[in-house]
Amino acid sequence: MRQIEQRAVQAYRNQFLEEPVLVVSAPGRVNLIGEHTDYNGGFVLPCAIDRRVAVAVGHGDMQLYSADFHEKLPLFGKREGSWVDYPSGVVLAVKEQGYYVPPFRGAFAGDVPLGSGLSSSAAIEAATALALDALLHLGIAKKDLALLCQRAENAFVGVNSGIMDQYASLLCQAGTALLIDCRSLEAEPVPLDLAGAGLTLIVCDTQVSRELGATGYNARRQACERAAHTLGVRELRDAHLQDLEKLSGEERKRARHVITENARVLEAVQALQMQDFGAFGRLMYASHRSLRVDYEVSTPELDAFVEIAAQSSALGARLTGAGFGGSALALIRSEDAGVLALSVRHYFEARGFTQPVFYSFQPEAGAEVAT
Ligand code: ADP
Ligand code: MG
Repeated sequence: MRQIEQRAVQAYRNQFLEEPVLVVSAPGRVNLIGEHTDYNGGFVLPCAIDRRVAVAVGHGDMQLYSADFHEKLPLFGKREGSWVDYPSGVVLAVKEQGYYVPPFRGAFAGDVPLGSGLSSSAAIEAATALALDALLHLGIAKKDLALLCQRAENAFVGVNSGIMDQYASLLCQAGTALLIDCRSLEAEPVPLDLAGAGLTLIVCDTQVSRELGATGYNARRQACERAAHTLGVRELRDAHLQDLEKLSGEERKRARHVITENARVLEAVQALQMQDFGAFGRLMYASHRSLRVDYEVSTPELDAFVEIAAQSSALGARLTGAGFGGSALALIRSEDAGVLALSVRHYFEARGFTQPVFYSFQPEAGAEVAT
């Protein structure tokens, strides 16, 4: 049993004075490549990370406890504006599918950083969904659990996100990434044995709030819709490089990012299948350039991280997530990671940027019932 799963079990014992029936955990995720492609019907390539949310569950009185928030709350049928909304939303989504959910209780413990763009929200949703499935013997396929979780996040919590986070948290396997076709919702594992190659993923949370990004994000989506409309295609996923000459101005730049980014994801998959991490890394750098120049969603902090990563002989680096702040990602030899973090710290300090927070990850397994 993982340490985080043991913490959930211990929290359950302390709160409910009995043994849980079972414990489940689900990971956060990082998107390796494929940014702003999801709402254009395209491809994304996330992997699960070795930070998880665990939940120990048993039959009981509809009370949920969070060891991280030190709070026991009843499962509500309405939105509360707290952490309990995520499990509540999942329970509601399961019920909406026609399943009977008898009273149960659970204790959560997690170590996915909250609000760093690593999708702790999908982790708590996925852990809840799989725990209910296992406790109540529902036999729901993991893909369907992911769709339930997405519904909880969209309809109940009120965050309009795609399927990537929930798919990654439920469907990833250790040592692999997950290629997701955001139109067909098909997903397939892609080998990603970083430990074997002496590599690690470094995430740099620039601590720059993405709140101001909401309007920029909507503007990008609208420009993509206009571009697709002008080209007479359903979504930009169906557009080709030659189509760009039929576009101009903002639409042309935005479409160029989406078209080239979709192609990069598929090339990145080929590179990983050949264990060519050098080629994979170059695609990461190209993705960042495209996000900076054509999609215009980078920030000075994200650019600085990518620049310093290149100087620190990282194989690849790029902003990850929607941009406008948030986090950046580098693929680097494990022994070079410390120097990269130190160089970035010094540079940020000299520039008067907020001090960033660093995380190091390996690709981990998706949601599992602990044994
Ligand atoms: P992100 O998904 O990028 O981490 P969100 O704002 O979407 O950020 O989700 C974070 C929220 O998810 C937290 O504020 C909390 O409500 C919930 N959450 C995440 N992890 C836990 C946990 N271990 N225990 C309880 N709630 C959690
Ligand atoms: Mg989230």
